[in-house]
Amino acid sequence: MTSAKRIIPVAKGDGIGPEIMDASLHVLLEAGANIEPKHIDIGEKVFLAGNTAGITEETWDILREYKTFFKAPITTPQGGGFKSLNVTVRKMLGLYANVRPAVSYHPHVPIKHPKMNVVIIRENEEDLYAGIEHQQTPEVVQCLKLISRPGCERIVRYAFEYARAYGRKKVTCMTKDNIMKLTDGLFHKVFDEIAPEYPDIENEHWIIDIGTAKLADTPEAFDVVVMPNLYGDIASDMLGQIAGSVGLAPGANIGDDYAMFEAIHGSAPRHGGKNIANPSGLLLSGVMMLVYIEQPDVAERVHNAWLKTIEDHIWTYDLVRKGKAEGITNYTEVSTADFAKAVVARLGQKPNELKAASYSGLSAKIQKPKLTNVRNAVMTLDGVDVFIHEGKLTPDELGKKLTELAAPEFKLTMISNRGQKVYPEGFPETFTTDHWRCRFKSPDGTAKLSLSYIRNLLSRIEQSGLSWIKLENLYLMDGKRAYSLGQGE
Ligand code: NAD
Repeated sequence: MTSAKRIIPVAKGDGIGPEIMDASLHVLLEAGANIEPKHIDIGEKVFLAGNTAGITEETWDILREYKTFFKAPITTPQGGGFKSLNVTVRKMLGLYANVRPAVSYHPHVPIKHPKMNVVIIRENEEDLYAGIEHQQTPEVVQCLKLISRPGCERIVRYAFEYARAYGRKKVTCMTKDNIMKLTDGLFHKVFDEIAPEYPDIENEHWIIDIGTAKLADTPEAFDVVVMPNLYGDIASDMLGQIAGSVGLAPGANIGDDYAMFEAIHGSAPRHGGKNIANPSGLLLSGVMMLVYIEQPDVAERVHNAWLKTIEDHIWTYDLVRKGKAEGITNYTEVSTADFAKAVVARLGQKPNELKAASYSGLSAKIQKPKLTNVRNAVMTLDGVDVFIHEGKLTPDELGKKLTELAAPEFKLTMISNRGQKVYPEGFPETFTTDHWRCRFKSPDGTAKLSLSYIRNLLSRIEQSGLSWIKLENLYLMDGKRAYSLGQGE
């Protein structure tokens, strides 16, 4: 008895979206995927109809009901006011893990890294992509980098669970915690806490700058790589490109209850409607979706037929261009639709030289992570950073003024400008802007502080004619300092 077809909301998207989605669905359905596509409209049309989110309430209801979503790329119209639909969908549905494999198909796709087989697991909801930005003074704008403990625990645990489920041997974490000791430091710390729970999987940490250089140069040294949002976005696009074509790279966005599958590339509007784009990235995203909805046998059938097609050098224009540049001439150039037909013609076949895909016995369902409850930590007020907009005073003049205003509840310990200490004992050479961080702590370093002291301090600052623009309270968490120090503190 065959089970009921799984209804999958499908968005054909914009630009090359409709043709690569038609091609991908053609292959999936011919391979016997037990799915029923339910077409939904999102993206450019919806944006241009005046909906700045690019998605209607009815469409949200459909996504909520069917939970697994297959999406072609969409075009975000130029000009202000339109939100990134991808970011919105990821956040609204809690799709915290962005899984982006980058694989070499050497010698059948031109590539400088014949042994590359890396999966980037990118945190998908936090970091600078929270999109909280402010212009604080005429000279200075700010973007908040938010990293949470539950966010880190979910993505790091997902990376290890993924490695275990897919028989991978090593998880590498990449951060910049030598500079961002609290935000990237938390990501690294959580990685170090969780890694020992997976003794069967090797673990290591790289600083992101040299780590990305190593990824670009020697990707075969890596297996699964887990990263905060921005680094993961950049590194996975870089790997997609060096794999031969961005058109080959698939992606999955996974949460506890929902999932969205899409290629990593965009809608390439210039190529839209020409039936030339490579549908492989989207098709392989469909393979990841079939594994996720527990149809691994169909996933394996599609993946192997696709590998055989690539092995037979049936290429869309992007691979042809790359191949020509490398002097390869034994290929057949096909359209998007004909590429899909070539894959269908090979259903049931396996590649001869490339490693065949095998998903049997694989359960890609990942346990819901248990999260550490840190909400009861005791927060002790230890001071305050008051940010001031001031364009005329020198650091010393500002320092003297604020030293007087600090008393009686506080003393001024430091002023920095763009993170560089300028008072006391600043260098006259240091370039300064109109944006000053002024740190106030208890006068003797031990007196108990209260929020009312901060209100009093702000009143004194206002009455003096200075303009404060924002505050950051300084806390001890369970007695430990939970803010970065300025130089010399
Ligand atoms: P893009 O990825 O759409 O295209 C960049 C270039 O990559 C193209 O010009 C083309 O040469 C090549 N390319 C991409 N996909 C290909 C494929 N399947 N086959 C062959 N070649 C391919 O990036 P872009 O031009 O920066 O963005 C275009 C639009 O896509 C923008 O509106 C952007 O907002 C949107 N976008 C959407 C998504 C998404 O929906 N997931 C992701 C990224 C960008």
